[in-house]
Amino acid sequence: MAVQGEIERFNLRSRLRFNIDAGQIWLDESRMLLLHAKALGALRRELFDSLGAKRAQGLLFRMGFAAGQQDADLASKLLGEGDNFDVFQIGPALHAFEGLVKATITEAHIDWEQGCFFGETKSENSWEAESHLQQFGIGEDTACWTLSGYASGYVTRFFRRFIVFRETQCTCRGDHHCVMVGKPVEAWGDDAYLEYCRPEELDTSFQALQQELWQLRGRQREQHVPGKLVGSSPAFRMAFDLLSKAAKSPITVLLLGETGVGKEVFAQWLHENSDRADQPFVAVNCAAIPNDLIESELFGVQKGAFTGAQQSRPGRFERADGGTLFLDELGDLSPSAQVKLLRVLQTGEVERLGDDKARKVNVRLVAATNVNLQQAIADGRFRADLYYRLATYPVAIPPLRERKSDIPVLVTALLEKYAPIYHKSLLGLTDRAMQALMAYHWPGNVRELENLIERAVLLVPSGAQIEVEHLFAGATPTAPPGAAIDRQGQVGNADEARRELLYDTLLDDGFDLQAHETRLLELAVRRANGNLTHAARLLGITRRQLAYRLKQATGEAGPGARHGMTKSNSDR
Ligand SMILES: [Zn+2]
Repeated sequence: MAVQGEIERFNLRSRLRFNIDAGQIWLDESRMLLLHAKALGALRRELFDSLGAKRAQGLLFRMGFAAGQQDADLASKLLGEGDNFDVFQIGPALHAFEGLVKATITEAHIDWEQGCFFGETKSENSWEAESHLQQFGIGEDTACWTLSGYASGYVTRFFRRFIVFRETQCTCRGDHHCVMVGKPVEAWGDDAYLEYCRPEELDTSFQALQQELWQLRGRQREQHVPGKLVGSSPAFRMAFDLLSKAAKSPITVLLLGETGVGKEVFAQWLHENSDRADQPFVAVNCAAIPNDLIESELFGVQKGAFTGAQQSRPGRFERADGGTLFLDELGDLSPSAQVKLLRVLQTGEVERLGDDKARKVNVRLVAATNVNLQQAIADGRFRADLYYRLATYPVAIPPLRERKSDIPVLVTALLEKYAPIYHKSLLGLTDRAMQALMAYHWPGNVRELENLIERAVLLVPSGAQIEVEHLFAGATPTAPPGAAIDRQGQVGNADEARRELLYDTLLDDGFDLQAHETRLLELAVRRANGNLTHAARLLGITRRQLAYRLKQATGEAGPGARHGMTKSNSDR
């Protein structure tokens, strides 16, 4: 009953969704599998046969560890800022909910401040013991490796210390039931388990260590990020192959693509992989500079050329001498700047404004635009002769929606970039968050993805996973997953149909709106243990609205009063 109570208390059922049309089951943000214990048992048997007991046990332990860590995240989320001991207790409830085992905590000595931990659980109906007995019969060894891995991963994650659970009794050894004991890894006094654990793979909760790693990577990446191109999708490879063929030659490259596809990153890569890599890379965004300044910016000014030109200064062309000049948003260049640019390209010489001295420049030009230049020519906004000079080697950079398979690697690179900046150690994205990114259509391309990830890194608590709501802040781009299970464990065909039926039945029985509202309020407050904020969340209203309605229900001698709602439990 204790487990059932925990499941109700945290309303776990509401987190479990069957989206049968999409072929998905979700437990909160994690994709779950309803698979045959027999199939997993067969895999388990094959692991033992092909790898030997030791390695098979290690693999199973680590698999359980990963599951335990995911559930610890969910538990912390369900409990919010509540007592850590409660988090410890939801573990067995989640494990039971997932159908793996019925575990009961028989002993727990936890001192959060001191970091002391001792725990003992009794397991019944372990799927693993059952499967092991079917496959191997009674033997010398304990068998519940995924289960001890789960308990270890679970406790390790929220205790932030490496806690290892070992089976001291197991039905596979002929014991009456399975018993697991958990202690900090060093308290075991031997390192037999370390072999199973391979800490380098399990240390995701060793925050300090991970933080260091992120920072180290962040620091390394800082030198590479601007020139780093990430991707392996066919569309990306096509653009990249074209780009690499041009890298070593001085040919003028025209980068085409929508806003946000990362044209400057491509340009920078081109520079860094050319034989001009040790010379300057100068980038100019033509759209960001006012028309009356663009010419002096590009070509330079001679002292006295116009009022305010008190000093001679070189333009970007001269500053890029020997290296690469990247002209972004070229379609926005003013007509007179277009003429001057064409002349530079034809002669290889620049003249500063107010100066008739021609200066030789050796510049490799990379231009980029997101406007259709052909159309601009037809409209008389862009010079055809300049276009033909620039368009000798066009490279079209695909929009993000045409290279979605690159999203996971891009996300990894962006997390490595932003986690150190915001001093967060993060555990990646939930399955559902990643699915939402894959389903989105990305009108703003890689830049939009970068903005989204940066915001998510800012919003997510350190040590947690990024969830859908961190990314899309309320406006979830994917449909919420489908049917839930009811109290009897039945899966609804669809939420809507079930509600329809419920309302029908209610009306048939002679409906009293006020009474039903009061009952709902009571139920929610009870489920939330009197916490009005939590109760309001269950009801989909604000705490203020709930308090007001409760007051109405109890304060007035309306039909609600007869349900005996007391003031004390509504004021908490
Ligand atoms: Zn066992």
